[in-house]
Amino acid sequence: MLIYGKEIREEIKQRVRTAASTRSMVLSVVSVGEDPASQAYVKGIRRFAEDTGVQCNLIKLPEHCTEEELLRMIEALNQDDYVTGIMLQTPLPQHISADRITEAIHPGKDVEGIHVQNLGHLVNRTAWIKPSTPKAVVHMLKSNEVELEGARVTIIGRSAIVGTPLALMLMDEDATVTLCHSRTRDLKKISLESDILIVAAGRENLVTDDMVHEDMVVIDVGTNYNAQGKMVGDVSQAAKEKARLASAVPGGVGTITVAELFDNLCILAEQA
Ligand code: NAP
Repeated sequence: MLIYGKEIREEIKQRVRTAASTRSMVLSVVSVGEDPASQAYVKGIRRFAEDTGVQCNLIKLPEHCTEEELLRMIEALNQDDYVTGIMLQTPLPQHISADRITEAIHPGKDVEGIHVQNLGHLVNRTAWIKPSTPKAVVHMLKSNEVELEGARVTIIGRSAIVGTPLALMLMDEDATVTLCHSRTRDLKKISLESDILIVAAGRENLVTDDMVHEDMVVIDVGTNYNAQGKMVGDVSQAAKEKARLASAVPGGVGTITVAELFDNLCILAEQA
C-alpha cells in the first residue's frame, strides 16, 4: 500500500500557523545562481510561508558572487535580530564551499539542523534541532504506526543531510540500523534481512522487487527525473507494490520535508 505525506504536512502547517500568530518568525533563504530544481524547492517554501503567516525573505545572489561575499551576507543575517532562521539553498556554484558556508551560519539560526554543532548534538543525543528530511522520515514511520524499537532498518545512502543523521535518529528510537552506500557488498541480501528499508541514493530504480519482501516497509526519499521528465524515487514500482507499505514519490517524504523545516523554525523561535 502506498503512503503519503499530505496529512502530516497539514498537521504541521496548523501548528506553524498557530505559532506564527503569536510571535514573529522570519526565514531567510539564500540562493546563488539559477538552478531550476532548487528554484522549485524555494517556491514550495515560499508557498508554505504564505499559508502559515511566516515571513520568508529570499536573497538571491548572482552565479559569479564570491565565497567572501556570500560569507558576508550570512554574517549580516546572523547579526540581524529579526531573522529567526537561515537556509542555504544548494547546490552552490563550484567555486564556493557549501561546507564553509554552512559552518558560517549561527547554530541557533541553522533551520536545516546541519551545522556541525547541531549534528554533534545529534550524536550526543542532546539535539533540539534535527535535519528536516530525516525528521520527515521518522514522522512518516511513526504516523503509520511502524514499530521502530528493535526493528532492523537498512538505509541506503550515507549523506550528512539524510542517511547519516537518519541512522542516528533511528538508533535513538532503539532500531538496529545498517547504513549502506555505493561500496556496500550484496545490498540485496542486507535489504531482504530488514523490516524497514529507507532509500536515499538519488538513483532511479536502484531498489527492485527482488530486494523487497511482503512484510517490509519501504520509505523512498529519492527524487529523480526520468527520461519523460517525471519525478520518480529510487524504488521501482514493482518493489513498492510488493512491500507492505511504501511511500509515494511525489507526495511522500518530500511533502513533509518543507513542513519539518518550518517546524524547526518554530523551535529556533522558541529558543531565541
Ligand atoms: P548524496 O549526497 O548524493 O548521497 C547519495 C548517497 O547514496 C551516498 O551515500 C552514495 O554512496 C549512495 N549511493 C549512490 N549510489 C548508490 C548505489 N548504487 N548503491 C548504494 N548506495 C548508493 O544525496 P542526498 O543529498 O543524500 O540525497 C539522496 C536522494 O534523496 C536524492 O535523490 C535527493 O534528491 C533526495 N532528497 C530528497 C529529499 C526529500 O525531501 N524528499 C530531501 C533531500 C534529498 P557514497 O557515499 O558511497 O557515494
